[in-house]
Amino acid sequence: LIVLGIETSCDDTAAAIVKGNGEILSQVIASQAELLARYGGVAPKMAEEAHAQVIDKVVQETMEKANLTERDLSAVAVTIGPGLSLCLRVGVQKARKIAGSSSLPIVGVHHMEAHALVARLVERELQFPFMALLISGGHNLLVLAQDLGQYIQLGTTIDDAIGEAYDKTAKWLGLDLRKSGGPAIEELAREGDPKSIKFSTPMKQHKDCNFSYAGLKTQVRLAIESRNIDTKIPLSSASIQDRSVRADIAASFQRVAVLHLEDKCERAIEWALKIEPSIRHLVVSGGVASNKYVRAQLTAVARKKGLQLVCPPPSLCTDNGVMVAWTGLEHFRIGRFDPPPPADEPEDTMYDVRPRWPLGEEYTEGRSAAR
Ligand code: ATP
Ligand code: FE
Repeated sequence: LIVLGIETSCDDTAAAIVKGNGEILSQVIASQAELLARYGGVAPKMAEEAHAQVIDKVVQETMEKANLTERDLSAVAVTIGPGLSLCLRVGVQKARKIAGSSSLPIVGVHHMEAHALVARLVERELQFPFMALLISGGHNLLVLAQDLGQYIQLGTTIDDAIGEAYDKTAKWLGLDLRKSGGPAIEELAREGDPKSIKFSTPMKQHKDCNFSYAGLKTQVRLAIESRNIDTKIPLSSASIQDRSVRADIAASFQRVAVLHLEDKCERAIEWALKIEPSIRHLVVSGGVASNKYVRAQLTAVARKKGLQLVCPPPSLCTDNGVMVAWTGLEHFRIGRFDPPPPADEPEDTMYDVRPRWPLGEEYTEGRSAAR
């Protein structure tokens, strides 16, 4: 089996080719980070154009690096949601063009399932059922993965995701956003005192597994405003004292942001073990899972609960084509795919994209899970 995966749900245009045994034959990512830094956020129309400009090149390079032609492929996998619909369409159109011209089956992939399942490529021992914490720019999910395509959502965010809080904190602290906010905060936090500012941990009194990061964002903004620092001056030219205040804010924010993950993750594992006592692993994935402090703290949570942590390498935590190819492969293997589209499919076809697409049924303890 050889599957090409295409990902365009947000701000990265990515493709990869993966073999049935998990071997990654090639991967290419074109990031819109420069664009984001320049304009301070994603505008859907701008992101769509950026994807459209590079998609052909990204896929072509992926094929060339693997030294394959389209006829060598078994199927084409593509992210169909959740994400920005204009962006998703660019990937879906490209995938259908390839599948149509070479008569290949097509597999529609859930972006968050892909973040979770790439852990099975990395750790071949990882069997269902397992627990997963998926943390990224747009999602903050605690799920019990029962089987392929079968998830129970134990918790989600009621407002922002943790990645969004990292990104805003970085922006407000005047950090260099040419990469993304997360890594910039992680780096600066190493210089700071994590206990210097007493941010309060969100949702402490709620006995559920949901998250909230909007309040912490506000606390951070107020902390920045109330201190005498000029965040218009880039960090590299800031005075020593100004730099250390910013580092303290970054470190204190990170400590509480991650403490919130630890609290809810612990409770979710307890819930999950009642539903599926055979769980052995905690998967932590999504862009924020590339953070070393996050990994260390969640390793401790997993250990405390008798589970083994599986966290993909950073390059497979942030958006990538490998996770899409792999998830497509897993579904393809059990017969879940669409037949090849017609070779002459018109370009204005209404594709099946799912901008909002829950990963599974919601569950709250006390209510039985709908299955
Ligand atoms: P989603 O998966 O919810 O659709 P996305 O695809 O944009 O969102 P990912 O690429 O999975 O998100 O993750 C990007 C997020 O991860 C950004 O918010 C970024 O700041 C964060 N991130 C990346 N690296 C780190 C890090 N080292 N520490 C903290 N956050 C990080
Ligand atoms: Fe993502």
